[in-house]
Formats: sequence, C-alpha cells, structure tokens
Amino acid sequence: MSNTDVSKAQKVHVIFDLDDTLYPERDHAHSGFRAAGRHAETAWGVSGLADEMIRRLDEGHLGQVFPMSVAALVPDHSDTHIAEVRAAYRDHDPEITLFDDGRWALEHYGAIAKLGLITDGNAGVQARKIGALDIAHHFAAKVLTGELGPDRAFHKPHPRAYELIEQQIGVAGDHYVYIGDNPAKDFVTPNARGWTSIQIIREKTIHDQNAEVAGGAPRHKIQSLRQLPEILKF
Ligand SMILES: [Mg+2]
Repeated sequence: MSNTDVSKAQKVHVIFDLDDTLYPERDHAHSGFRAAGRHAETAWGVSGLADEMIRRLDEGHLGQVFPMSVAALVPDHSDTHIAEVRAAYRDHDPEITLFDDGRWALEHYGAIAKLGLITDGNAGVQARKIGALDIAHHFAAKVLTGELGPDRAFHKPHPRAYELIEQQIGVAGDHYVYIGDNPAKDFVTPNARGWTSIQIIREKTIHDQNAEVAGGAPRHKIQSLRQLPEILKF
C-alpha cells in the first residue's frame, strides 16, 4: 500500500461487496429464472419462461425482465402472474459458486485480517446467497443494507453500513479497504471516509462498470482479486 493510503502502524480491515465481486451475479439471475420457469411450468403449464428471461436480461432489460417475459408467454396474464414469478425468484435457493479469485481472497485475507461484507438488495435474497456460497464464517462483520430499513433507504452509498462496519470490527485509527465492482455506488462513501477503494473489473457484469458519479471513482482498479497484495502490500 502506498504511504498515502495507510501507515504501517495501522491495522487494515478488508471489506467486500458481494454481487459481481465475490461471485457472478448473472449466475444468480439465471438460477432465479430457472426457479421462475419451474413455477410457470408447474402452476400454469407454460414452458420456456426461463429462456425468455435470460434473453431479456442479455438484451439489457434489467428491471423489466419479469413483466416483459411473462407478457410474451402468457398473453392474458394478470399482475398475479408477475407477483408469483417474482416470489419464485426471490425465495429460491440459488445455485451459485464463488469466483476462483473470490475464494482465494477470502481464504488468504481471512487468515491474516478481519474481513467484512456490505451488500445491497433484498435481505432475504442476499442471506440465501451468503448461505449458498457458505462464506458467512469468513466475516467478522456483515451488513445487509436491506435489513436496515425499507425501500433501499440504506443502500450504498448511504454511510450507515460503512459506519456499522467501523463500529463492529475496528478501533479508532484503523484503516479500511472496500472492494466492489460498481462505481455508481460502491466507492463514494469509502472515499469520503478515507478508506482505500478498489474496483474489481469483471466480465459480463450486471451493472455498468464505467459509471461515473461525483466522488465515486475508485482509487485503484484491478482485474483479479489476486492483484490485491500489489496494492495492500500483504
Ligand atoms: Mg456488486
């Protein structure tokens, strides 16, 4: 780590984002679409919903995947149909695995530093991802921002999650590193609080990796979490 990042006397805690940082978020979407497809098949006798949803996602219709796909396959659908597949997606047990370098980073840094996790989204969905990946034991502190309040009120870049991490795993003067993939929200607050912000560049991410917001540029960019030691010096 450069001298401007942290002094040698400081304890450094390594905090991760989850989606598209530690595992591929697109795999979670596909896993949920398959669950939605199974529901459509079982409850309505409609096949092909999962493939339709995957196609819409690949076309960039994030946010409209459910209504567009249901409308395409069930012309006389109602809001109930959409609510049912949303529930099937939300409540399913995901089939996902860590990126290889995600697994490496958790094991490497988990052995020599305190780790934390800050993740946005429906808290139940995020908890099921953490369970499926079997990673909870790596973290000294986890903040699922969906648990802090309704309607994305505490989603990043809201400072609350970062404050909680500082309160839960450090003492005054400690240094924090935040590693995420989404420059639209991940790095604004770490930058403001004097943390070291690092963007992991992934292929086929759900969110735009080139978004620019005021104060949100990462201090470092890497293509693999295995490059972290070059920045952190441990
Ligand atoms: Mg992310």
